[in-house]
Amino acid sequence: MNYVVRDPIKPTSDALLQSTGVDGVFARTGMFERVVDGLNALISRHRDTDAEVLRFPPVTSRAHIQRSGYLGSFPNLLGAVCCLGGAEAEIRAAVDGAKAQGAWVKSLEATDLVLTPAACYPLYPLVAGRGRVPAGGLVFDVASDCFRHEPSRHIDRLQTFRMREFVRIGSPEQAAAFRAEWLARAPGIADLLGLSYQIAPASDPFFGRAGRLMAINQVEQSLKFELLLPVRSAQQPTACMSFNDHRDHFGKIWDIATAAGATAHTCCVAFGIDRLTLALFAAHGLDLRMWPTATREALAL
Ligand code: AMP
Ligand code: ZN
Repeated sequence: MNYVVRDPIKPTSDALLQSTGVDGVFARTGMFERVVDGLNALISRHRDTDAEVLRFPPVTSRAHIQRSGYLGSFPNLLGAVCCLGGAEAEIRAAVDGAKAQGAWVKSLEATDLVLTPAACYPLYPLVAGRGRVPAGGLVFDVASDCFRHEPSRHIDRLQTFRMREFVRIGSPEQAAAFRAEWLARAPGIADLLGLSYQIAPASDPFFGRAGRLMAINQVEQSLKFELLLPVRSAQQPTACMSFNDHRDHFGKIWDIATAAGATAHTCCVAFGIDRLTLALFAAHGLDLRMWPTATREALAL
């Protein structure tokens, strides 16, 4: 079914998001969060009964992110936590007085932490530490506030956003079947929400020239699909969900073994919570009472 984007969301739409003065970083209003809560509850109702729920903080281990390959693939997107170290006198000299204005930034030292770039990254080392994956495989429901250094004036490209994911870890067949099930299931959820969608092959924004080859390879092997919804325009819809087949990438890096002793395969289905919420407002307008009944019921609005 085709729906018209009634109310393309403008960056100035204070009813939803309010500027903090930094591109891609917004305060979210009560109305925006009502829909976020409804969406999260809807996603929970689609969770496998045996899924394990984990909520990750917005920071994660720098060493883990380095080892996971994120730094190699997306060094331009990663944010690191830096702090002032050293003796009191050194810290005072860095921050005090008119002369130090702004100079303290040069005194920052890296810590053991980076900002979580995707909700599933902290999961793999955690699972690896538990020993072999049981024969039936594992399913997780994870979420995190994520950071990506891609400042933009576009309302759907945030530097900090919320990501929810279902992650399957097990045999190649178990991982592939899970992703296929979700690719088949997502249109039904979009229909329920009254959203006109497209599902398209996609690639990650791998860094640099070598990255372009990785992106081509990803498309050729059908490793990533995205569900696109109108947010800024119907002609250029926005990726609001992704369906990712990692093959044995994380299994190899973290030495995650199946019950049979083979390298585990992983896949994840990611819900971009802020983008999905923006897509709902773009489709149905700013007055929640006017939203389609089925959508309101699905979101308990
Ligand atoms: P990805 O790991 O890139 O497939 O991201 C998973 C989902 O997170 C995407 O489908 C988007 O919905 C959401 N997402 C990714 N980057 C951003 C961003 N800069 N701003 C808002 N949402 C994002
Ligand atoms: Zn993921």
